[in-house]
Amino acid sequence: MDIIYRSTRGDSTPYTASRAVIKGLCDDGGLFVPDRFPKLNVELDRLPELSYRETAYEVMKEFLTDYTREELLDCINRAYDEKFDDNEVAPLVKKGDRYFLELFHGRTIAFKDMALSILPHLLTTAMKKNKVDKEVVILTATSGDTGKAALAGFADVPGTRIIVFYPKGGVSRIQELQMVTEKGKNTKVVGVNGNFDDCQTGVKNIFNDEALKEELDKSGYVFSSANSINIGRLIPQVAYYVYAYGRMIKSGEIKAGDSIDFVVPTGNFGNILAGYYAKKMGLPVNRLVCASNENKVLYDFFRSGCYDRNREFILTSSPSMDILISSNLERLIYLICGSDPKVNAGLMESLKRDGKYEVTEEMAKELKDFRGYYAGEDEVFATIRDLYEKTGYVIDTHTAVAAAADRKHKAEEGDGIKSVIVSTASPYKFTGNVMKAIMSNKGEDVLKSLEAKDDFELVDELSAISKVKIPPAVEEIRNAKILHDTVCNVEDMKETVKSSLL
Ligand SMILES: *Cc1c(COP(=O)(O)O)cnc(C)c1O
Repeated sequence: MDIIYRSTRGDSTPYTASRAVIKGLCDDGGLFVPDRFPKLNVELDRLPELSYRETAYEVMKEFLTDYTREELLDCINRAYDEKFDDNEVAPLVKKGDRYFLELFHGRTIAFKDMALSILPHLLTTAMKKNKVDKEVVILTATSGDTGKAALAGFADVPGTRIIVFYPKGGVSRIQELQMVTEKGKNTKVVGVNGNFDDCQTGVKNIFNDEALKEELDKSGYVFSSANSINIGRLIPQVAYYVYAYGRMIKSGEIKAGDSIDFVVPTGNFGNILAGYYAKKMGLPVNRLVCASNENKVLYDFFRSGCYDRNREFILTSSPSMDILISSNLERLIYLICGSDPKVNAGLMESLKRDGKYEVTEEMAKELKDFRGYYAGEDEVFATIRDLYEKTGYVIDTHTAVAAAADRKHKAEEGDGIKSVIVSTASPYKFTGNVMKAIMSNKGEDVLKSLEAKDDFELVDELSAISKVKIPPAVEEIRNAKILHDTVCNVEDMKETVKSSLL
């Protein structure tokens, strides 16, 4: 029987997986959730034999039931190919007594590649299946990272166009270079004279402009977003949890059936939720450890049952986790209130109105599979340095938040259960802070000399001390030509979209 997707907020219109992928967000503002959790249909002791692609197929076929075998295999093969700089796609490495699941071997050397390399194919396949004869136009506002990951995913995918807006002067030099050197013929990158919020509001206004939508419809275009709440991004992420489990068996670290913990650096709650979905499929997961930086809304939530975004927003060295509203958490709230859309919608309403909500004691009990920890900036830097000094292995700032949380969880729980740290970015993506962390006990002069260096000098230095080859994704942009130089004002964003399409 097909798995059907419905809103978390009460609209009971049934959607097949492919229609939910096209739709993205429900009309009532809710998120699509499956009407039941399928079981993994492969014996645990067979997992070590499966490649990443085979594992992805075993997982995705259970959730995306209206895609045919051929369609799914085609999407998977197009996504997880030479774009990844490691044959394993998501290698599990052991350093000292710790395990890291490296999700940063894709085109932008961070974990969003895992989902954004397959979403374009799931989406275009869904359009064909549902006889939507339009070209999809992806509009994205980015504060740096998602933009390039979306560009890389959609680049030269037939039937799609992608336009990315970023705050001119508001992203790092490397992030900007990654975007403006994008070669895909169907891509457009636009700097906006404004901040990230301006870009996001501008994109929202374009999405809500009915007249523009109609005009584009006549010309054969339809808008979509590559948002992290799309089930076409969530479901592919379940696969690497299952894959990691198989690798733990293969390397003799556990026996099939043993439980393990996953420690996940968390922002929007998409990554860790996929881990929970893997557990729901029957993967022996003990705890999901939610690691936050100083924006510790989720830590407070898991401790108190109260989600409260009314607080200062802190800029940290792990910017992809600087988030006060974790949108994917809604899917977990829906589950813990007994899949009652009324209760969930009520809580989401108070979040919108008061910036907070509180779950009942009964609901809080359902959170028993989760633990929350957070790490401050000093702990993050100390964790990077300590791991480097003990093992020679270099991790990025986001992964370091998780590594610090892992230590705290082990100290508090002390149950001897093995844990896998989900590693979400290459250290080369946040080279400045990573080098600063490693050198943080070398005295003022060394730190000063670091500050005088440009991004690529730091990259070379990191390569020298870590002995890890500079990823092609970084090497490529060093001398790449700048292909996008459009800059516009906030009020001209709509015109820019129109003139690029019509
Ligand atoms: C997006 C991102 C995260 C947070 O993932 P969520 O799914 O939003 O919780 C963590 N680390 C890195 C490097 C990211 O890019």
